[in-house]
Amino acid sequence: MLKTLAVMTSGGDSPGMNAAVRSVVRRAIHRGQTIYGIYDGYEGMVKGGDSIKPLQWNDVGGILQRGGTFLGTARSESFRTREGRRQAVLNMLNLNVEALIVVGGDGSLMGAHVLATEWQEHLENLRKDHPDAQWASSHAPLKVIGLPGSIDNDLHGTDMSIGADTALNHIVRALDNLSSTAASHQRTFVVETMGRHCGYLALSATVAGGASWVLVPEEELELRWHHKMVHSIEKAREIGRPHHMVIVAEGARHPDGLIISSDDVKRILTERLKLDVRVTVLGHVQRGGSPTAFDRIMATRLGSAAVDILLDEWDQEHRHMLGLIKNRVVATPLVEVVEKSQAVRVEVENGNYAKAQELRGGSFIRTLELVKTLTRIAPAQETVQDGAVAILTGGADAPGMNTAVSVAARCLLNQGTPVYGVRDGFVGLIEGRFDELDWDELVNWVNRPGSEIGTARVDFQEGDYAEIAATIRRHNIRGLIAIGGWGTYRKVAQLASRRDEFDAFSIPMILIPATVDNNLPCTQFTIGVDTALNNIVEATDKIRHTAGATRRAFIVEVMGRRCGFLALMSALATGAEKAFLPEKGVSLSELNEDVNILKKSFESGKRLVIFIRNEHSSQSYTTDFIKRLLEEESKGFYEVRTAILGHVQRGGLPTAFDRILASRLGANAAFHMLESLKNGWDDVHVLGLREKGIEKVPIEEAFKEMDVKNGRPKEQWFLDLLETADALAKPPMLHENPRPQITEE
Ligand code: ADP
Repeated sequence: MLKTLAVMTSGGDSPGMNAAVRSVVRRAIHRGQTIYGIYDGYEGMVKGGDSIKPLQWNDVGGILQRGGTFLGTARSESFRTREGRRQAVLNMLNLNVEALIVVGGDGSLMGAHVLATEWQEHLENLRKDHPDAQWASSHAPLKVIGLPGSIDNDLHGTDMSIGADTALNHIVRALDNLSSTAASHQRTFVVETMGRHCGYLALSATVAGGASWVLVPEEELELRWHHKMVHSIEKAREIGRPHHMVIVAEGARHPDGLIISSDDVKRILTERLKLDVRVTVLGHVQRGGSPTAFDRIMATRLGSAAVDILLDEWDQEHRHMLGLIKNRVVATPLVEVVEKSQAVRVEVENGNYAKAQELRGGSFIRTLELVKTLTRIAPAQETVQDGAVAILTGGADAPGMNTAVSVAARCLLNQGTPVYGVRDGFVGLIEGRFDELDWDELVNWVNRPGSEIGTARVDFQEGDYAEIAATIRRHNIRGLIAIGGWGTYRKVAQLASRRDEFDAFSIPMILIPATVDNNLPCTQFTIGVDTALNNIVEATDKIRHTAGATRRAFIVEVMGRRCGFLALMSALATGAEKAFLPEKGVSLSELNEDVNILKKSFESGKRLVIFIRNEHSSQSYTTDFIKRLLEEESKGFYEVRTAILGHVQRGGLPTAFDRILASRLGANAAFHMLESLKNGWDDVHVLGLREKGIEKVPIEEAFKEMDVKNGRPKEQWFLDLLETADALAKPPMLHENPRPQITEE
């Protein structure tokens, strides 16, 4: 049985590494293990002594929101030698370390693999020199689990690596800022992003930030590639586009294999177009700062899973990396991760770009194709006037709706299909308020908050159906794309149910999930929820900063309607002590337990305790009620404060995740719409991000997957994380009931 583990961070640091270490340490302690932290990566492992220390519960408190890694990281030349690794093995044996968790890039994972492979050999040799050591009779191999830590997102075996989402958000925010100044001064910006061998950051930023041109390492450029770029920027200027930005991944290459620098691009544009070109090299800014909610949650999930796998599958050999693939924790052998990750570099070096792209995978290739459409100056085809597609946004607005409209509409226009934006959702559909959407205008919508075409809440009156049918006929609408929440789904279903009476409704209709509540069926995430989650996390971090001399309990009330996603995920991402969820309800006995937990927490020296409460977690035990209850019970020992975050949660520019999700769903909706139009289908579908990727599901199925009474899906994947959140937030002494059960209301 496993008793002692060690954890380290290695190679380039990335935001979220702290969250991974916190999760490993607390999960290990929660499961009765001794856990050592190795400082400064393999260098510390070789050095031993003070570089390897036992970590306690409180040692990893308050680090979730910090960038970098508190364990430090270093490159180690000594570990690259056999002698160095022998010393590292001795240091680990002396502390009885039986399993190691390494967070790092492919170099660090390779190091872990080499260490595990050589372990027995070093053990045999060391035994000869230390025959009396307490480990001398040991034969146990070292188990190693790697976690992907890299801002470049260049690792095989995971869809995202820890730090990539934070880096991408930094880039996207920089593009948002640059585009406003570029627009005011008619300037052209060349922006250099990280990614020596991997174009992920540059490509995703182009989709999410609306750049005019992008250069990535995996793409083969023509000999005169710059002609096309110059022509594109020149045209953009001629038609009065407010800004022009070229994104260069630092590893992009000329056809001869030499690196294209951002200064090369500047020189070309300045010489050919006599433009005022400014270069912005984002550099280490991309690596820094507080990690996003996504990075914190992913790192937390992977860290806990690593400890669980080591303990639960103790009889098996472990030389794996854990990654997130399609939102599931997946183990891939370290050798495969390292070989496949490095193979892309070799293919790029050798000029085998098609092979490099193939190794990156289908999603990378599809993004590259999408970028080709989105960076066009004008649609590829002239519009054909034999019917249009209408796009509307319904219900409450959600950040990212504009991105979805912009991408879906441009993908349709690119194929010659005219697109109308329906003003103010179903109200505009009834009243016939349609605007023909224009390519140039759409380009500027990708990063705008809210909904440019407008949303409104409305209930259909009986007479409305005839009005809508007339509008559809008048504008020759052949298909409808509706972006919104459950109200929007229901309205589309209502239209479809009246097809017998109104022929006009026999057109293909596609629904795209967009709501900050993440309460829709057939999708793991809705457009808008990541922005809301990050808004909550930022606000809660700020509340944490207020911790001072007085003891304080904070109840933060968050949105979500009757879905606990935002409450649970923000608790996981901020280290809040508790989340009140509508799925679980609130009971008096539980509140009683919370009173005891608060008392014990403050007695043990805590200054601030945060409870996150979903707005509908209980009808009677409201935020105010809980505040007053806790206040009464505190007997003056601590203060209680509330923070009701309200509409701040749905505001602001959409995050990179929301923009990317919106772009993928928008492009998919356009693709399915074109297919239905070509084949004369009148299917009604819901799109969503599912286990296998983006899928379309018939609307009847979507209704079956919905718990209509409670306004949330019947199956909610994130509830599996309830136990993790609880285990990591409360030290073992507070765990009277370690595995909370979900009970129906
Ligand atoms: P990253 O993990 O970010 O890719 P590096 O490539 O610099 O960063 O690797 C981090 C450390 O991992 C190196 O300094 C070295 O100590 C160790 N390492 C990398 N490759 C190997 C290898 N092939 N054998 C042993 N150790 C290695």
